Amino acid sequence: MRVIPEQFQLTFVVVRVVDVLLASLSVLFCLPLLIVLGISSLCKREPFIVHYSTIDCLNRPLRLTRINSKTLPILGILLNVLEGSISFCGIEILASDDEPNQSLVKTNVKAGIFSLSMLHRLSGLAAYNRDALTLQSINDYSIKYYLLLIIKSVINKCLYRCTDLDSPKRFVLFGVKINNTHLQSAVDWVCKENGDKGTKLGFFVNVNSFNICADQPTFKKIINTADRVFADGSGVRLGARHKGIRLRDNVNGTDLLPPLCEQANSDGMSLYLLGAGHGIASQAADTLIKQYPGLKIAGTHHGYFDKYGDDSNGVIDDINKSGADILLVGLGSPIQEQWLIDNRLRLNTTTALAVGGLFDFFSNTIPRAPLWMREMGFEWIWRLLQDPVGKWHRYVIGNPRYLFRLWLTYED
Ligand code: UDP
Repeated sequence: MRVIPEQFQLTFVVVRVVDVLLASLSVLFCLPLLIVLGISSLCKREPFIVHYSTIDCLNRPLRLTRINSKTLPILGILLNVLEGSISFCGIEILASDDEPNQSLVKTNVKAGIFSLSMLHRLSGLAAYNRDALTLQSINDYSIKYYLLLIIKSVINKCLYRCTDLDSPKRFVLFGVKINNTHLQSAVDWVCKENGDKGTKLGFFVNVNSFNICADQPTFKKIINTADRVFADGSGVRLGARHKGIRLRDNVNGTDLLPPLCEQANSDGMSLYLLGAGHGIASQAADTLIKQYPGLKIAGTHHGYFDKYGDDSNGVIDDINKSGADILLVGLGSPIQEQWLIDNRLRLNTTTALAVGGLFDFFSNTIPRAPLWMREMGFEWIWRLLQDPVGKWHRYVIGNPRYLFRLWLTYED
């Protein structure tokens, strides 16, 4: 059993005070509803309060109370916070079919209505690993952490809550066929041999892709020609939820690349990086080789070449001569998808992915959004702040336009 050093006791005293204050205020606010529900149970001769046993992620037993009503189940949970058996923020309480963490940890941090692992799951952060996040939340636990987690969780619950929704393998949003997948399944697919069927293509769709599709119907056809289309970003998550669908993971190029490099490395597969400004793809390659010693980068090329002339032929020759297995094309949408569709039959790689500005991030030319922004699906705000002129149209016009189509039109 690992023992985590106990945090300064004052943290727990303050957390308890805030727990009691918040829970009392919420219960007081809902008192009229509680009374109505109580009278209704009395009339039906049903018990109003039900006790049940469960465990948290650390395998600690919990005896909890809930109200015997489907209206506002949070009301019953608040009684447990008042009583002190759980807190607003802490270790995740397990659903009946979940497996607890096997490596037990001793800590004063209580089980909580909100937890870091739940936050990551809601926003579909693909690097989500419940055990690692549980340990991280114990190590980081403080008053600031507790308050921020409440704020982030409430925002995420309002935006992305979808636990009761179906999660089919495929669905269609605005006419685009999307594969609903976990990050690791996407990596497995990229690394899978394709026999003599040619290069398989994988695209990522985000709000910008849907807006381009609305302006250019040919782009929609191009996207639908891919072998896999992955859901990238909070906009697609909102779109899926609007259709009654739960997205498994947020599968974007930036989160996919690290596990892809690990798997390619262990499978002996090589990568070719095509795109971005002069020298950026090779800088990204250097970073990746440092991070994954032994990783084979078969070649790199910048993305500012004539996409239709001899330049393009030269680039294709270089990729094929390099013997690369996986081609990453970062030319931005819709150029990268068009170039891949035009040239897929001439490429010898097993897989090709259209990855947008990926190399800018991995060469450290552009820093990635801080984790707290990604935890709430707000990475786009970071990108807008970094390049307000270039990204103004994409986000300030594009996001409301997408939401308008999503919520106020009947497009499928
Ligand atoms: N780019 C390129 N060749 C071009 C146009 C763009 O290599 O002809 C690169 C550009 O330098 C950037 C990437 O394509 O690295 C596009 O990045 P963006 O952030 O627009 O892509 P996203 O990830 O949002 O699709």
